[in-house]
Amino acid sequence: MIKYNLICKCEKTFESWFSSSSEFDSLLKKKMIKCIYCDSSSVKKTVMAPSLTRKSNQILKKNKLERNIKKRLSNFKKYIEKNCEDVGERFPQEARNIHYDKKTSKGIYGKATTEETSELIEEGIDIYTLPWIDDKSEN
Ligand SMILES: [Zn+2]
Repeated sequence: MIKYNLICKCEKTFESWFSSSSEFDSLLKKKMIKCIYCDSSSVKKTVMAPSLTRKSNQILKKNKLERNIKKRLSNFKKYIEKNCEDVGERFPQEARNIHYDKKTSKGIYGKATTEETSELIEEGIDIYTLPWIDDKSEN
């Protein structure tokens, strides 16, 4: 279902549900969409993004998406912890060592301030920042 906000030549606006945008187009062509106030068929879509679902569904979907992202980040964290070395506060130094010593290809993770991070990026060092999930606060 697609909800459209419609506007009539009488300047009143109202909402109407259609099964698809093509259904709306064909009904409009046949002048079967009537203004609920003056019964005129001179209606058109107002410039507005159609909402595809009811609001509650959107919120539900958003929460589900957030949960998925959290889960993925949590899995990613586990992967990093298993495969990379925790260098903690020494991260900026270690990242430079790896970048300039091309022989080393070990993965590391650790902490860096926003300033340190932007410095590393400016130097062309390949790093990623991600929100670190605190597993203890889960569930
Ligand atoms: Zn009207």
